Amino acid sequence: MSDSTFTPRVFSGIKPSGGLTLGNYLGAIKRWVDMQDGAMETLYCSVDLHAITVWQDPATLKKGTREIAAGMLASGIDPETSILFNQSQVPEHTQLGWILNCVARMGWMNRMTQFKDKAGKNAEKVSLGLYAYPSLMAADILLYHATHVPVGEDQKQHVELTRDIAAKFNNDFGVDFFPMTEPVIEGPATRVMNLRDGTKKMSKSGESDMERINMLDDADTIAKKFKKARTDPEGIPESVEGLEGRPEAANLVNIYAGLANSSPQAVVAEYAGAGWGTFKPALAELAVEKLAPISDEMKRLMDDPAEIDRKLARGAQRAREIATPVLERTYDIVGLLRS
Ligand code: ATP
Ligand code: MG
Repeated sequence: MSDSTFTPRVFSGIKPSGGLTLGNYLGAIKRWVDMQDGAMETLYCSVDLHAITVWQDPATLKKGTREIAAGMLASGIDPETSILFNQSQVPEHTQLGWILNCVARMGWMNRMTQFKDKAGKNAEKVSLGLYAYPSLMAADILLYHATHVPVGEDQKQHVELTRDIAAKFNNDFGVDFFPMTEPVIEGPATRVMNLRDGTKKMSKSGESDMERINMLDDADTIAKKFKKARTDPEGIPESVEGLEGRPEAANLVNIYAGLANSSPQAVVAEYAGAGWGTFKPALAELAVEKLAPISDEMKRLMDDPAEIDRKLARGAQRAREIATPVLERTYDIVGLLRS
């Protein structure tokens, strides 16, 4: 393995900490499907070891791990073209994770805004794993020498941390071993916001079900959630500038653009002057049109968990073929004896 030539490679993951949301779909999965058809090798992962940084019921975790895989498959991830697996079946992630824990600095971890958001006032009571999780995420990426990581805006800081860790490792050991990974944050819906509070992002682990659209929501639920979504008295403006300072309005327009493969400019042009009573039902209809075939397929796949497990096992095997030599070389660089 040459240390300084990096084959372009894509890695990304979603944690089974709840059901998939429209945010996960537009910010991540939909874009992964697009990248799968490009020139780069693609690896997509249900990152179960990240999910357990907060308490997970064991049976729910297993089901959730399969559900994330089903969501990726139903959205168009091809398990032959891409390598699709769950993180815990590739133990090299945690092995490299420990080494990177010893490279990452406390000061860097202390700056991670997502930890602050998730820990809130409870920082003394959350797990050590929640604090350390960005360095395991760096290991997820660097284990495959991934050069590109398609994520939502919320993960930008963690990919930047990955670069800092890679640079420090390379520098400490005088090698050019880990690549400087690029976050790929593109499209109109890189930060889908909470439907009840446009200043917070939509999350699968958020408190209220009304704040998010789940990929498995039925048509009536989707319509109801958009209908109740918070907005302001103004409707759709004449131009996108009119969305400034209106997070809830901007969010609904961005979601529409993401689902329609369009742009906020085009959406505003089409609906200029319309009230929410016109726009929200149109948005709900579009969301159902795009999500219903995916959720139907997810349910079909979830009826055969053994088949999902077979696909994940095969993916893990392929992932390990890439991971093993990278981890062995890392051990050698660090001076860990392999006899
Ligand atoms: P949790 O609340 O448990 O953190 P989550 O919904 O934030 O769940 P993650 O598993 O943390 O989901 O993230 C998976 C991927 O989805 C990441 O690439 C992340 O950037 C993206 N993502 C998550 N939420 C959004 C969102 N609201 N808008 C766009 N992308 C998102
Ligand atoms: Mg998250």
